[in-house]
Amino acid sequence: MIGGAPVLRFAPSPNGRLHLGHAYSALLNADLAKRMGGTCRLRIEDIDTQRSKPALIEATVADLAWLGLRYPEPVRRQSDHMAAYRAVRDGLIDRALAYPCFCSRGQIRARVEADGETASDPDGVPRYPGTCRSLDSTHVAEKLARGEPHTWRLDMAAALGCAGSSHGYIAFDEAGERRVDADPARWGDAVIARRDVPTSYHLSVVYDDAGEGITHVVRGRDLEAATDLHVLLQRLLGLPTQFYWHHPLLRDATGEKLAKSRGSQSLADLREAGITPAQIRAQLGFD
Ligand code: GLU
Repeated sequence: MIGGAPVLRFAPSPNGRLHLGHAYSALLNADLAKRMGGTCRLRIEDIDTQRSKPALIEATVADLAWLGLRYPEPVRRQSDHMAAYRAVRDGLIDRALAYPCFCSRGQIRARVEADGETASDPDGVPRYPGTCRSLDSTHVAEKLARGEPHTWRLDMAAALGCAGSSHGYIAFDEAGERRVDADPARWGDAVIARRDVPTSYHLSVVYDDAGEGITHVVRGRDLEAATDLHVLLQRLLGLPTQFYWHHPLLRDATGEKLAKSRGSQSLADLREAGITPAQIRAQLGFD
């Protein structure tokens, strides 16, 4: 499988300030890399052109440095690699494994409601009803020629037909390793390229984990279901499958997971309140 020294990565999206949950993930990655005799890389996942801001990238790097974390150069920024993602996306399109979807979110919701469908993808988004999967090819060509906004969706049935339906990966944690069966089909026809950029989180992360030689992916449980889809994409693209550790998420006093969108206290807030990196490490269980 994957030889050589372990390579891990911490891969924040710079669309807000880092909070304690990020600190936990970053420290766990660094700690494991050290214990395994490997390295941990930093990757800035800034494909969201609306929400990723240069000042937030600088702040992310500064917050991590404040915590005492240093990363090998160069630090990969996904926004620098759009041409490569486009080529990967186009490869899937050429193999008839992806199709353009012209539906807006509102249209999808209306169609799902009209059909009385209740299924949703693991991220809570209503299951795509497949409206654009069987559009007439001349009609599609016209829409594309007119520049109609569209995403690209993986044709899940075609993808499973191509890559087989039996998928899995090795999960690891303190207790050891175990084989996990993956069920990519729980995602329906997932978006592999957004409207504004020729990629999506799923496509970029799979391509980058392979390109950066990542051997062990350590990330939150909120992404555990995404791994099922990533394993399928890896199979389709001929890329290696990493070992995965999906760590528990930190929760606030009300039991909600920490989130930038919920205004969880940022590391910057804690720093300003006089909390030291050593206190944060101790609070999170690292020495
Ligand atoms: N960029 C993702 C996030 O900040 C994490 C991606 C990953 O670790 O695979 O939630």
